[in-house]
Amino acid sequence: MDVTIKNIRKEFGQFPALHDISLSIRSGELIALLGPSGSGKTTLLRLIAGLDRPTAGQIFFGQNDASEKSVQERHIGFVFQHYALFRHMTVADNIAFGLKVRPKATRPPAAEIRKRVSDLLDMVHLTGLEKRYPSQLSGGQRQRVALARAMAIEPTVLLLDEPFGALDAKVRKELRRWLREFHDRTGHTTFFVTHDQEEALELADRVVVMSQGKIEQVGSADDVYDTPNSPFVFSFIGESSHIPVTVRDNTVLFQGEPISITEQGADSAGELFFRPQDVEITSDKASLYGKVTACRRLAGTRIAEIDIANEGHEPYHLEIEVPLDAPVAVGAEIRFRPTRWKLFRK
Ligand code: ATP
Repeated sequence: MDVTIKNIRKEFGQFPALHDISLSIRSGELIALLGPSGSGKTTLLRLIAGLDRPTAGQIFFGQNDASEKSVQERHIGFVFQHYALFRHMTVADNIAFGLKVRPKATRPPAAEIRKRVSDLLDMVHLTGLEKRYPSQLSGGQRQRVALARAMAIEPTVLLLDEPFGALDAKVRKELRRWLREFHDRTGHTTFFVTHDQEEALELADRVVVMSQGKIEQVGSADDVYDTPNSPFVFSFIGESSHIPVTVRDNTVLFQGEPISITEQGADSAGELFFRPQDVEITSDKASLYGKVTACRRLAGTRIAEIDIANEGHEPYHLEIEVPLDAPVAVGAEIRFRPTRWKLFRK
């Protein structure tokens, strides 16, 4: 089901939690809503679900304006961070719940419910555990039951609010891969809330980056990582450093000196952003120059922390990736320059 969000605004009292949000989602897309705490992800999800009403704007499911529809009428599947399974019900009864509580006219026959539960158990790889109670499952298994329960009603849209947030890192990673496969098999339009950028990049077809109640950027993992359109997106997605620069005659200057970077356009000031891995060590004088204050080893590489002097102020502190065989030790002074960067002009 396509989902179109048009000029949505949500205020809590005087506080605008969402400002004029618009977004078009194609049927079958897996969308990550990514942003720091308080950016409005859950608020947006609740509006899509119909749990809250927007202050202004509309939400369409397909061609239909769902803005005034109830949660039930929207036919949404939900999974939240804190598993809301019924503790006194078995796994099978939990999954069947949404079907069993339907009015008689639309409730499938018992045999069909059993078949659907069995298919869903198979899909979430929990066959054999149908008679267990939630307390007899691991956290990851519980979340898969929650997902199967959400899917049982054959929802138009699936909404997942940090569904793996309470689980440990390893289980999270497994469930992430599993969810991607599950989505590819079932093809539901899915919104997935996370504040974990790695999770968003790995899982989603498109990532919606949010900050302070606004959408900063919408794009594929490659788009938001490789071509971030704002300083916020650049630094929120992945590691980064930035330094203040000026541009004169298409040459980028740091502290008044060229650093072998050209940028076309009018003379201006700005911030030059780059990632730790997009740096090379050089002997060229037209480069950045700093002192190594710490070094740490990662699997195949090393990270050096560098201080660049800033007369009369705190030094600029940044991190760069250096090859294992580079002569970089604590206390050394090195020259380096970004090989890829993004200049945000003021
Ligand atoms: P988190 O990652 O911490 O869950 P989030 O991005 O999901 O954050 P929201 O829960 O959508 O953020 O909250 C967005 C803003 O709206 C926050 O500043 C929050 O305090 C505020 N807010 C959310 N719900 C309410 C409410 N019911 N009443 C008043 N303010 C609210």
